[in-house]
Amino acid sequence: MMADGSSVEKGQPGLAEAALFGLCPRCGAKGLFAGAARFAPSCKACGLDYGKYNVGDGPAAFLTMIIGAITVALALWVEFTFDPPVWVHALLWIPFVAITTLAGLRLSKAALLAAEYQRKARQATGEDLRKPPSAGPGQSGD
Ligand SMILES: [Zn+2]
Repeated sequence: MMADGSSVEKGQPGLAEAALFGLCPRCGAKGLFAGAARFAPSCKACGLDYGKYNVGDGPAAFLTMIIGAITVALALWVEFTFDPPVWVHALLWIPFVAITTLAGLRLSKAALLAAEYQRKARQATGEDLRKPPSAGPGQSGD
């Protein structure tokens, strides 16, 4: 029996679940990530090709701004509250930025891939552009 190509199957992880634990959006197996924030080429359990999902650098730019803002706010707070020497800042913020960026990248990339999988996202083609939005009322004949 072939169950290939069916839309939504039981046992698929939710979006948040897949993002938090790095699960395969199709079968729910762990191992979405091969590196710190790099996808594995495909799922070891079900063979889903992660490479065809183009998540891109959108999340990176977004995260950089958010993490940058949070880090500056925290650094200013620490500076004015504890008045620490400069090396304390280096000790605090370098690992902080590294960890939050990695965690954020993993989360957002996994969430995007799962969302793309669930919505069967693909590149837009000329076919999409030629398609009329919807047939409005009052149009008759051709
Ligand atoms: Zn899988």
